[in-house]
Amino acid sequence: MSPTDATRLRELVEEWKRGCQLAVNEAWGVCHTRSEVQQLAYDRLREETDLGSQHAVLATHRAAEAIKRARDGEGSKPQFTSPTVAFDTRTMTVFDDRTVSLTTTGERVRCDLKLPDDGGYQSQYLDDEEWEPAKSTLHYRDGEFTFHLGFRTPSPDIDLPTEGATVLGVDLGVENLAVTSTAEFFPGGELTHRREEFEALRTDLEATGTRSAARTLRQAGNRLDRFVRQRLHEVANDIVAEAVEYDCELVAFGELSEAAELLPEATAYHEWLFDRLLSFVEYRAAERDIAVVEVNPEYTSQRCMECGFTHPQNRNLDESQFECLKCEASAHDDYNAAKNIAFRCVRRGPLSSRGLGASACALQSGLVTPDDGFTPYAELSEAPRSD
Ligand SMILES: [Zn+2]
Repeated sequence: MSPTDATRLRELVEEWKRGCQLAVNEAWGVCHTRSEVQQLAYDRLREETDLGSQHAVLATHRAAEAIKRARDGEGSKPQFTSPTVAFDTRTMTVFDDRTVSLTTTGERVRCDLKLPDDGGYQSQYLDDEEWEPAKSTLHYRDGEFTFHLGFRTPSPDIDLPTEGATVLGVDLGVENLAVTSTAEFFPGGELTHRREEFEALRTDLEATGTRSAARTLRQAGNRLDRFVRQRLHEVANDIVAEAVEYDCELVAFGELSEAAELLPEATAYHEWLFDRLLSFVEYRAAERDIAVVEVNPEYTSQRCMECGFTHPQNRNLDESQFECLKCEASAHDDYNAAKNIAFRCVRRGPLSSRGLGASACALQSGLVTPDDGFTPYAELSEAPRSD
């Protein structure tokens, strides 16, 4: 990398830190969702920093995440000192010749991607058309830049249903990776357990430090990769099969960045699992002309699906049980949340202004619509299920 390019990247790192901090200062104690912080702080970032428009947006999002984490831990106002910058597909371009072009505060900088000698996971993803580069991070330490490439499967272009669609809601979590509004449960225990086993093995083997230990570790990593990928494909297939069975033209998830933050027990690994699962579902759903949307998941775990009463103590966390303080309805809490996610599309989906016309959400035993309330499948002229 030329000295000029290195200077440009260092300047970007400084402006990024300043931008994140400005956004936090502005939003601290005021708001914490990405859209709110962006609305509040974007103009100021554009005026007072040299960040380009998209990096200003990303910095407000990074600030929102930091505020949310601090609030959850009841911590003090976040300070941005870490020399890292977030990139997305609008601020970076990855080329076939293993170079990447990055937006800076001035001209773009093009650098070589140095991959690990054995190619690492990055090569596998770069060579696989099922994956495309996604959110990534630039780190600057001890005079060296490191770039962590993120990957996702390309989102298929599916037109959103315009009227009368039925939506399947999906709640993501740790104990249950996914639960649908039709009460299909996909346990997440084994995914977490196998990952923990791998982490323990890594700690042991890294302490050993021999060449054969490194090989054993790599093999175990590949085994875990295969297991996770296979499991996520199975769950994605089953979720889409569920949507088909219930005649849904739309599958709704809680917005991933928010969903992971609302789950205290979720780790970076779980965030990664959610991201992969959503991609796989989008991919499979597209084959059946089913659209996938993300809705704001806030309060979906606190709201009673039966009467709408929303309260943090509506949950009995020890028993994964939702118990409404007002109408005393009870259900598995993930199932209740999945129903609320579906209902959010029906009633006041964020996409409704764009003409999203979901008008019913699929539940285990019937459809719920805003006007008519609950209708059992048995009473519908065309029941999606024969049983
Ligand atoms: Zn209730």
